[in-house]
Amino acid sequence: MQTYQGGCHCGTVRFEATTDLATVISCNCSHCSKRGLLPTFVPPDRFRLISGEDALEDYQFNRRVIHHLRCRHCGIESFARGKTPDGNDVVAVNVRCLDGVDIESLKLTPYNGRDF
Ligand SMILES: [Zn+2]
Repeated sequence: MQTYQGGCHCGTVRFEATTDLATVISCNCSHCSKRGLLPTFVPPDRFRLISGEDALEDYQFNRRVIHHLRCRHCGIESFARGKTPDGNDVVAVNVRCLDGVDIESLKLTPYNGRDF
């Protein structure tokens, strides 16, 4: 487990997330594939929003269980808030937005979100 810092492009949204990056999802759904998201899921107690709460714009689609939060200044979705299937809060951190992570070194876990 390591604590990473991350955020949006313009720097308004900044956060810390503690994760081992063991499961980084490459999802083929219409939203993830168009945005190029690479989410990893952490419980809320391993995520701390440092700045930018006021700049977050919410986007929802489909079953509207996930709050896709993009910075209203630069448009980058650095994380999303949602629920696990058993109803617990979870944060989907976009690994592309973490500082110092070599994306090419990650083993991505495919997820067939297109069919849900
Ligand atoms: Zn921004």
